[in-house]
Amino acid sequence: MNKPLRVVRVIEGTSVDGPGLRTSIYFAGCAHRCPGCHNEPTWDFAAGDNFSVEQLMEKISYNGFDVTFSGGDPIYQAEAVIPLAKAIKAAGYNIWCYTGFTFEELLEEPVQGTRGLLKYIDAVVDGPFVLALRDTELLFRGSSNQRVIDVHESLRRGETVLLDF
Ligand code: SF4
Repeated sequence: MNKPLRVVRVIEGTSVDGPGLRTSIYFAGCAHRCPGCHNEPTWDFAAGDNFSVEQLMEKISYNGFDVTFSGGDPIYQAEAVIPLAKAIKAAGYNIWCYTGFTFEELLEEPVQGTRGLLKYIDAVVDGPFVLALRDTELLFRGSSNQRVIDVHESLRRGETVLLDF
């Protein structure tokens, strides 16, 4: 039996969390506490409700959109998210993941299951939101320190590779 996922909300058909229309899953919990965070209510690890992989896959398949993991920071639930990510990839969708950790930090497994989860992620939007670097012109990012990273290519080459989207 898979561990339930703690999710604050699911947005079906957003165009701001990656290319095209996407199903965005906002996971509960974030300890980065970036000043100016756009989504403070999701800092609470107990916010929202429990969802099973099957419940989330039902929504994802119904809409047929690619998927974004956001929050909160989905990495804090890395181990529990792996079965969901696996099912999403098996169904043929791509996955973007927002996180307050940098990509280099992710490679050091800040939370158990991080590297296992990364195998299923196509793109990571990394790093904390930095208010002084806020830029509303940036596509899919809040501040200019954040990068959109091609995860598969980065893991293959052993260096951080930006995604050309
Ligand atoms: S990582 Fe994201 S959700 Fe977490 S505090 Fe920073 S901006 Fe907010």
